[in-house]
Amino acid sequence: MEESATPAPKLPPARERVGPINQRLAALYPEFEGLNHDGSFQLLIAVILSAQCTDKRVNLITPALFARFPTSRDFAECDIKELEQLIKPSGFYKNKAKNIRACCVGMVTRFGGEVPRTLDDLVTLPGIGRKTANVILGHAFETPGVTVDTHVGRLSRRLGLTRHRNPVKVEFALLEIVPQEERLHFSGRLIMHGRKVCVARKPRCEECTIADLCPKIGVKGLAAKRKRKKKTVAPQRTQRAQSKTESK
Ligand code: SF4
Repeated sequence: MEESATPAPKLPPARERVGPINQRLAALYPEFEGLNHDGSFQLLIAVILSAQCTDKRVNLITPALFARFPTSRDFAECDIKELEQLIKPSGFYKNKAKNIRACCVGMVTRFGGEVPRTLDDLVTLPGIGRKTANVILGHAFETPGVTVDTHVGRLSRRLGLTRHRNPVKVEFALLEIVPQEERLHFSGRLIMHGRKVCVARKPRCEECTIADLCPKIGVKGLAAKRKRKKKTVAPQRTQRAQSKTESK
């Protein structure tokens, strides 16, 4: 059984808070951007492209890409240079092109050209980690897992839903407390909240809609860290300014 972090004393346990947290975030982010796709195969390619890239940019790239390479076999046999050019605007295009082609070769040779339907099979394909696999299962096959990226991990810890830093352990902790029908959207909402409010270095707790449900684990430490940094940076600057004046 996965261990959950102990929230601040006055707050109910994680299992009881997760519902209201999800409801409030759902009201706050009624629609979040998603990747346009027609079926599991297109979604898989779009998810690989979305690494370090916005969904919006991926959605601009994929229509021409899928018109040129409609099936996994087309990608498996493609000219890598042509593929690189088509996906270049998504960034890291050489690596992505290599992964996409290798992934499609894997699908053609081991899964009859189809996207496998289980997490264990999906993660055997090049370029597909648990995070990508969960997005594909959740969206395309309606077998939602919990997608854990850097935002979901950070918010889950701050909200006291888990203590773990390992994404797989965070995933299992969330699977225990988030109802199946809410898993996919819960991850999406946490990601949006992590981008807009509960940002990494300076979370905006004073304007946070779930502040009363959040033990803010680790947030005080961040403020102290910022203060320490300011103190150490300031004397260095003064020293530099002084030596400049002296050398004049
Ligand atoms: S209250 Fe602060 S730490 Fe908690 S979710 Fe909101 S922004 Fe993040």
